[in-house]
This record gives sequence, C-alpha cells and structure tokens, in this order.
Amino acid sequence: MDFSQQQHLMISVEKEGPDKLVKQTFPLRFGKYSEIKTQDFEFCFNLNGEIRSIRGLKSNWPHPAEQFKRTAGNDWVYYTVGDKSGNDGIISWMGEYYLPCLPYTSNPVWEIKYFSNPVVMSALAKWSQLFANLYMADLKGLYPHAKDLIKKILANDDTILYERSQQLNKIIGSRVSVLPPDTRHVDYDIIPLTIADGCLYHCKFCCVKTDQKFQKRSKDNILQQIGALKDHFGANLINYHALFLGNHDALAAGGDIICFAAEEGYQTLGFKQRMDQKPFLYLFGSVGSFLGAGQALFEQLNRLPFYTYINIGFESIDSKTLSLIGKPIKAEQVKEAFEKMIEINDTFDRIEVTGNFIEGDSLSPEHDDSLALLLKHAKVKSKSKGAIYLSPLKDSPKKRELLPRFYKIKEESRLPVFVYLIQRL
Ligand code: SF4
Repeated sequence: MDFSQQQHLMISVEKEGPDKLVKQTFPLRFGKYSEIKTQDFEFCFNLNGEIRSIRGLKSNWPHPAEQFKRTAGNDWVYYTVGDKSGNDGIISWMGEYYLPCLPYTSNPVWEIKYFSNPVVMSALAKWSQLFANLYMADLKGLYPHAKDLIKKILANDDTILYERSQQLNKIIGSRVSVLPPDTRHVDYDIIPLTIADGCLYHCKFCCVKTDQKFQKRSKDNILQQIGALKDHFGANLINYHALFLGNHDALAAGGDIICFAAEEGYQTLGFKQRMDQKPFLYLFGSVGSFLGAGQALFEQLNRLPFYTYINIGFESIDSKTLSLIGKPIKAEQVKEAFEKMIEINDTFDRIEVTGNFIEGDSLSPEHDDSLALLLKHAKVKSKSKGAIYLSPLKDSPKKRELLPRFYKIKEESRLPVFVYLIQRL
C-alpha cells in the first residue's frame, strides 16, 4: 500500500436514501449507508462498513451514472448506461436503466469491455489507496467524527470481504449460481435462503445446474440458515427488502416449506413494508412443479406478507427445440403452464408468475415463430404482469445480433418481454 498520498476525505458517516425502491436514470442509494468522497471518487459503504460501490466524479469517468457495485458474493460488477441512457436505451430490453457488466462468463447480448478503460479500472486501485489512507488516518486520530466508521471499514479488508462471501455460501450450502430475472427489481440485492437443492430435470443445455437430485431441506435446517443469515448480514439487514428462496426449483418444495421459510424469514430477518411496497419473495419453479401446484398453494402464497415472484423455465414451445436442448418436457406441457401463468397472474394480487424462454442463433426458426405466436395471442387481462424473459444461450456466438429478433418478438407480444442476463450472487 502507498501511504504517501494522503488526501482530504469528505466523510459522511450516516446518509439516508429513499426507503422505497424506485427505478431511476441516476443511481439512487436506498436505505442507510456511509459515504467517503475524494476529489475523484465517491465510495459508499454498507452499515457493516463493507465497501459497496465506487463511482468516478471527474469528467473523464465514462458517465456520471455509471459505477462499480460489489455484490454480497464479492463480485465487482460495473453498471453501464450503454450508448443511450434514455427510454430507448438499455431499459427497452433489460427493463432497467443499467446493464450490469459481470466479471465472469455469462450470456450477455451486449458485452462492454469496461476493463480495457484505464480510468474505470483505476477505481479499484483507488479503493486500495483509500484503504491505506484510512489506515493512516486511524493511526493519526484524524476525522474524529468518523472514528467508528473508519474502524469498521478497516475491519473489512479485501481478504475479509472474500472470506465473508465464502461464509455466506457455507451458510446456504453453495453459491447461488443464478438469480431469478425478477430480482432486477431490487437490483439483485436479496437475502438467499436454500429450501431445496438440485432440480427435477438436469437439462442438457443448462449452464447453472448441479448434479444433485432434487431434495427439500428440513425445517430445522431452514431455521439454522435463517439464524446464521441474521448474524451474517448483521446491522445491514435493515437495507434488504427481498428474500430469495433457492435453489433451482424451490416451488417443487411445496407450500408448507415455502410458507414456513417465508414466514420465519420475514420475522427473524426483520422484513417490513416500506411505504406502499411489500418486501419481495423470489423463487424459481419448473413446468412440472408449477403444473403440479394446486390452488391451495397459491392461496397460501397470496396471504404471505410478501409480493411473490415465481419464475418458470419454459425454454421453448417447439418440440424439436425442447428435444435439442435436452429438456425432458413436452410442448403441450409448456403451453398448459403458460396458460396457467396467465390465470394465476389474473387471480392473485400478490403473486406474479414470469417465464423464461431461450434465444440463440443455432435454434430452429420454429422456435422463434412458435414463441412469437404464443406471446402475440396470449389472453391477458393486464399487460403489466407476467414478464417473459429471453435468455441468450451461453454459447451463441452472435449475441448482439439477437437484439433485433428480441425487439421483433417484443413488439407483437401481449406480455412485457425483456432479456435475461444470467447473474450469480
Ligand atoms: S434449466 Fe432448470 S430444470 Fe433444467 S437443468 Fe437447469 S436448473 Fe435444472
């Protein structure tokens, strides 16, 4: 560390953003946090003193609304506004004003090489510099009003931050390899709680599956996780507004376990309604578990103190494509589950079922055509509920060229359509 470049720091120990999550063209900080500004950069910290985000303040920074954000899994994700920051920009295909550029291989339709920009990459070096400056400031007793904050930040160096991310994986059993697309509504900030491992199908095309057979967790195990999660997230728990019930097919765990986990999580982790916004509950479901779920389960979910998103992996309504990707379900089942999604969305005010379909340049034309027809003739009452996410296959070489095909499907669809970026926690 270079201790020679001590510079004046503007330290705000307690800052408070809006309580309710809303989408903005400029990055709003929600909840409570601390902030340190240098001449060139703004650094935000959560209530545990863990670094949370870094944003450049000088005119050579690519865009004032772009920033690095560190996830609970200790990934530094760069948020770009793309080449257009208005309503016809990234929001038209992501549903959000920002595209998270991930530091690992995923399925983006649009790859931004942010790491080849030295100004952007200097942000991470500046974090190391700030850490060194804070170390010296602590030794010299500078910034007495921020003494406690500085100590908390110094207790969370890069090694500790990494270890904490590993500890989180240990609590829930493994790393969350993919988050439901609907978690974009909370900027992917969720508390993960595993209620079942494995999945029902083990499809050939899938890049996130595990070898495990589907198995529910016991109630004891769920309670243990919740207790450990409460300790792990600590003071910063109050900034969370969403619970993710993992793993790949939590819906198959059944109403009893889902509602037990949701209710216990709600109580112990201190979720609450913020203004008119209920906390969010996210889970994945498969076509099989969704078709097998009776009315009673949805009635139970609708009584929870959450707004629940269930994301179903449909993948395709074309038989040939389903067999090509090794998904052991029939097109008729996909159709039936799709119609059930619309019915559930029309019936329950606190449940929203959304669905995923794959997209790729090696798929048969029937895949696109059958999907476009399905969405064009969907018998929906409300066009705002039940988003459909198109997920580019990971090995599709021409992902950017998928965007015009995506817009074509979206234009005629009676349901909202977005691109699904596979993101881990
Ligand atoms: S797509 Fe879903 S059901 Fe198929 S292997 Fe992946 S996680 Fe399992």
